[in-house]
Amino acid sequence: MKKYLPPLFMLMIFEAVAITLWLTKDNIFYLFNFSYIGLSISLGVFLFIKKYKHARRIVQLLVGLYMLIYLGLIRNENMQIEGFWYYLFTGVFEAATIHYAVAKIFGPLLFGRGWCGYACWTAMVLDFLPYKSPSQPRKKLGWIRYITFTVSLVFVASLFLAKVGNIEGIMFWAFIVGNLAYYAVGIALAFAFKDNRAFCKYICPITVFLKPMSYFSVLRIECDKDKCISCGKCKRVCPMNVDVTDNSRKRKNGTECILCMECVRNCPKDAL
Ligand code: SF4
Ligand code: SF4
Ligand code: SF4
Repeated sequence: MKKYLPPLFMLMIFEAVAITLWLTKDNIFYLFNFSYIGLSISLGVFLFIKKYKHARRIVQLLVGLYMLIYLGLIRNENMQIEGFWYYLFTGVFEAATIHYAVAKIFGPLLFGRGWCGYACWTAMVLDFLPYKSPSQPRKKLGWIRYITFTVSLVFVASLFLAKVGNIEGIMFWAFIVGNLAYYAVGIALAFAFKDNRAFCKYICPITVFLKPMSYFSVLRIECDKDKCISCGKCKRVCPMNVDVTDNSRKRKNGTECILCMECVRNCPKDAL
């Protein structure tokens, strides 16, 4: 039964967050929200332990669709980076701010870029494309993420500085247009570079938060050097070009690991 402790532990962490936010903010939405996400992730971990091939994809769809359709389109919470700036500037501690704090700013200290592997609704679509492992060397285009990050910040700041009315309405449309643009650019880049995750590697502004925080992640893949036979299969299947056999925090593309477990599943010696 010991092997089933991780999903149970995961569920307990999310329940603790759910109950704390429910009681402190006197809003039952937080109980529902974090319980649902906790249950989805725990189910994924349970299925992974059972060696079910599509465990990660199931969590990605359960969490990604919930956030995109229910939180984004039905509840009008802009969970894109523009929404985060918006709520930050208005000083409102709303779902988008909490979401960024938990999933993208402080959470990565614990679970790295688990968000990118299991919950992001952009990658949820990109992962359906045919190029699961990159066939070409990585390009030196990571600087683009700083431009998209700055553009999102300047866009929202200018709305406030220009005292534009109905910013909330603009944020809703920014969510729709932003998502469509992400999907269009993400799909085009995936085909151009033959790499499903090209958008994540070069364009996504959220990685400006995710990468430095996940450098210190408690949860990370490590290699047992005594078992490893240096066959290189783990690096060939890795969608993010991580040099996973190097255990140091400075390993090549270490902050790109999305904890997808493809390397673990494919290692012939169970060394990861
Ligand atoms: S890098 Fe960006 S687009 Fe890719 S999975 Fe992470 S948050 Fe989503
Ligand atoms: S797949 Fe396993 S055995 Fe092969 S290099 Fe990677 S860790 Fe070592
Ligand atoms: S294959 Fe392994 S190293 Fe690469 S992103 Fe997935 S978990 Fe990380």
